[in-house]
Amino acid sequence: MPVSILKSTYKTIQEDLPKLLEKINYEPQKKKVFIKPNLVDALPPSSAVIVHPKLMEALCDFLLSRGVEEIIIGEGTGYFTKQEHFRKLIKATKYTKIEKKFNLEIENLEFADRKTVNWKYGELSLPNYVLDGEHEYINVPKMKTHCQCSVTLAMKNQKGLLLLKDKRNFHKNALHDMIFELSKTVKPDLILMDAISCLEGTGPTENTQTNVKQLNLVLAGRDLIEVDNVAARIMGYDPEEVKHIPKLDNITVIGEQLADVASPFKRPEPYIVMGPIIYHQNEKMCTQCGIAMSKTFRKILFKEELRTRFEQLTEKYPRIDFLLGAGLEEFPEGCVVPVLVGNCTMEFAKSKGIDFCKGCPPNHNDIIEFFFKLLEEEVK
Ligand code: SF4
Repeated sequence: MPVSILKSTYKTIQEDLPKLLEKINYEPQKKKVFIKPNLVDALPPSSAVIVHPKLMEALCDFLLSRGVEEIIIGEGTGYFTKQEHFRKLIKATKYTKIEKKFNLEIENLEFADRKTVNWKYGELSLPNYVLDGEHEYINVPKMKTHCQCSVTLAMKNQKGLLLLKDKRNFHKNALHDMIFELSKTVKPDLILMDAISCLEGTGPTENTQTNVKQLNLVLAGRDLIEVDNVAARIMGYDPEEVKHIPKLDNITVIGEQLADVASPFKRPEPYIVMGPIIYHQNEKMCTQCGIAMSKTFRKILFKEELRTRFEQLTEKYPRIDFLLGAGLEEFPEGCVVPVLVGNCTMEFAKSKGIDFCKGCPPNHNDIIEFFFKLLEEEVK
């Protein structure tokens, strides 16, 4: 099945989208459509972390113009599982405009009606929308780099269909193979990728606003693995480098050609350095802890009182290592002041006789409080 690539911007996407979908002969086949965008964090569209609402608006307009009668947009983001947090996410991402224009409410998939299916890893709960045969399923990912998966594209976007407990299981068990297996279990009717403004470098929720890469492209296709192969190559990755994407050759590309639009992305680092802080990226840490950490750092950066305390810490300690996620076995080389965050670090903390910040995920305010306890401790 072909993958189409078209140049576009958020100003022209309304006119461009029908041309893009025409290239792969896409017309909705059902009257009801379920759309799964990527809205992973409560950040504005300019962050390039989320699918831009302009693209979503263009897609909804297109579907309605083709006779679709009901549109459901649903997302499941671990850190924003509680309904009041989910509403904050929808507001921050400016999806309230979509709700207003199309008279709908973005659905929190944690509470969607579900069915259980069998798959390689036992049983998996999925929203009815992607199983009932009544709804056309459209997967709308954002083109981004990712500190644990190298890239996060259409295959990984499907992780948002899972219940929170299953998202955590993915990270604790076999993240890459489970994403791949999920792509065999759930197959969209259409994939529409927002690659207009993208995220490069260490992401997806760190360094927002500074890691935006303007690519001005949209991609469409019907096969997850094909679309992700094409997208990864645009970003300068050989798909063999991305553990969850099986490499495919000889994919038919319509419209812009790969060689003309490929533009290597800055790659994610295994750790982030902020002053004396080294924040280690661990494959077994799930997005919820990642977002809690991003909120922690953002709050320290933007609150003057916290910034002052942070500067005091900087004077006191030349290096502080943040460690999260399951499976920790040893401190990183040169680590003198470790900060362990999340219940997953409990066993490791016990084995080392030190404290850890509790929570699954911990609230960012608790992380801040735990972190600044370092100011009261004596330097060893
Ligand atoms: S503590 Fe953090 S990394 Fe561990 S399961 Fe909970 S949210 Fe995920």
